[in-house]
Amino acid sequence: MDYAATLLAKLPGAPKRDHGMRRLIETLETYLPQDQVESIIRAYEFGAKAHEGQTRKTGEPYISHPVAVAQELADMRLDPQAITAAILHDTVEDTTASLDDIEEDFGSEVAGLVDGVSKLDQIQFRSRAEAQAESFRKMMLAMIEDIRVILVKLADRLHNMQTLEAMPPDKRARIARETIDIYAPIANRLGINRFKVELEDLGFKNLHPFRYRVLDKALRRSKGSQRQIVKRISEEFGAALGEEGVKADIVGREKHLFSIYKKMSEKKRLLSDVVDVYGFRIVVDDVNDCYKVLGIVHGLYKPMPGRFKDYIAIPRINGYQSLHTTLFGPKGLPLEVQI
Ligand code: MN
Repeated sequence: MDYAATLLAKLPGAPKRDHGMRRLIETLETYLPQDQVESIIRAYEFGAKAHEGQTRKTGEPYISHPVAVAQELADMRLDPQAITAAILHDTVEDTTASLDDIEEDFGSEVAGLVDGVSKLDQIQFRSRAEAQAESFRKMMLAMIEDIRVILVKLADRLHNMQTLEAMPPDKRARIARETIDIYAPIANRLGINRFKVELEDLGFKNLHPFRYRVLDKALRRSKGSQRQIVKRISEEFGAALGEEGVKADIVGREKHLFSIYKKMSEKKRLLSDVVDVYGFRIVVDDVNDCYKVLGIVHGLYKPMPGRFKDYIAIPRINGYQSLHTTLFGPKGLPLEVQI
């Protein structure tokens, strides 16, 4: 695209220091028409000018942060207004640009989103007890009239967590705690698993760096053999479903570090007890097939009593629906299956 190419060529030290714009434009071009991509590039120019001279704690030019936030949302194929708001999300608070300027250049919808994000930033969490976290999450969700505001905020927090190591240790711990107590549960509540997992793992890493390293190392060691077993059982499931004529995608599920840590500390389990659990996700086309698959896997391996949960009949609070069961696998290894 000409406009993008001209713009990127103008950047200092191009193409190396494009603040992430090259990648963002490439992503946007996969799902947005050219005029909308161009409008987002204009937002980048606006933001870069507003943040000129500001740097992140990492030493990078400030504008690289809002571009990274926009990239997260572009990966989720959010609409151009949300992407534009992501690029401009810190301008009202941290620069001389005003909401009126944004409204004039990018319209009232974008201005409304930027305003929503700025207002969220004004809630101060400080160190909150777990019990209070719940009421803060509720307050945050209640404040939001537009879901895109919280998506920008979550992506903002994610990038701040990815670059948290540049912060002093006491600040890191506070922000990490807040991320685990408030932001990760909101991501979970909205059903955005990728955000939840990454926010939790980054929170854990910054809150308990030593425990994180030990656990990470131990897990890496066991991963090779784990993958083998998961692969073998996936193939076994696949064959059995094929015989019954059920079309399904089967994926082995890897547990993330924080969920393992939580199980170990809350239920006082040993690492080996938590790690030697294999997770599978079986995705089928319709509800009937879910129950059919359940019957088939229960025929392959004995189910563990009391572990079957029908979240199709009774969905979780965030709307999640599936069947969960745990099987006694080969050598009695527990297999957790989500259908
Ligand atoms: Mn920000």
